[in-house]
Amino acid sequence: MIIVIKNGVTQSAIEQFKERLEKENLMVHPVFGENYCVLGIIGDTSRIDHTHLQANSIVEKVIYVQEPFKKANRLFHPDDSIIDICGNKIGGKEIAVIAGPCSVESEEQIVSIAESVKRGGAGFLRGGAFKPRTSPYSFQGLRLEGLELLKIAREKTGLPIVTEIMSTEFIENFVEDVDIIQVGARNMQNFELLKELGKTKKPILLKRGFAATIEEWLMSAEYIMAEGNDNVILCERGIRTYETYTRNTLDLSAIPAVKKLSHLPVIVDPSHAAGLNWMVEPLSKAAIAVGADGIIVEVHNDPANALCDGQQCIVPDEFSSLMKSLKEIEKFKWRYEGEKLGL
Ligand code: PEP
Ligand code: MN
Repeated sequence: MIIVIKNGVTQSAIEQFKERLEKENLMVHPVFGENYCVLGIIGDTSRIDHTHLQANSIVEKVIYVQEPFKKANRLFHPDDSIIDICGNKIGGKEIAVIAGPCSVESEEQIVSIAESVKRGGAGFLRGGAFKPRTSPYSFQGLRLEGLELLKIAREKTGLPIVTEIMSTEFIENFVEDVDIIQVGARNMQNFELLKELGKTKKPILLKRGFAATIEEWLMSAEYIMAEGNDNVILCERGIRTYETYTRNTLDLSAIPAVKKLSHLPVIVDPSHAAGLNWMVEPLSKAAIAVGADGIIVEVHNDPANALCDGQQCIVPDEFSSLMKSLKEIEKFKWRYEGEKLGL
């Protein structure tokens, strides 16, 4: 961090300020120019509130050199993190595929879809039990009953289950029953929820909020990690832009950006990004090509009668052929290998 001191500030005021920073375990290197004094700060600045520093009357401006996230930062953890879920890995050599319906609707529906996505090559089953719907009159999910049905589908197929938590109310049920707990786009900055999830050891699938910057998204991961849970998987699911043709705009550039900034695995949700079933295939292919560690995709055996998001679900046959082509693209997956210094 670099702090530029205002013109004309006395030496003793600078000294006092320097001592205050040193008490925070930071090393302070002052450089005195003709008109300005600049303080170079070395150490863990992630705990320093820069708005607080900026409010000091002797400070002209504060320039960040290092990102405010630490545990999620690749700088301090150069190797890719691999999250192991019951022996199935996310972030490793092979791409991870999570597939299933938007919502759990019945035992027959979830078991039949689980069996077909397993046959198609999925490594994980998704299905919403608690649904964050825009309208309070839309299907809200089967809630705890939905978790029970997911457990039956896991029992029958062996696929680990991924489902969304919406509040801390049922956290114990989720920790007990679920293999990966999903935090949806709408809850990416529900900091109390993130802190509670951080106190567990469960893998957390953290979706990007639709109006969140990459830094805000990584700071949300930091909330979970700061409490001691390093098992975070990021998920780009499209952001809101002025474009209305698609449900959201898939931010493909976020994938290489996150790979450079963080060691955490990152997957893509082409279904919620596009909101259109026919676009799932090209977006999934693009996601893997730009370096995603996998996808989470909505698959339904009867999209026309789905209780949620039928328009963006692909059917099991389409899923199987998508899996085949993704296996081909996996060979060309872009991988972050550090900066080429040109030395
Ligand atoms: C979902 O995965 O079912 C979902 C609601 O996704 P998002 O939070 O990305 O909208
Ligand atoms: Mn959905």
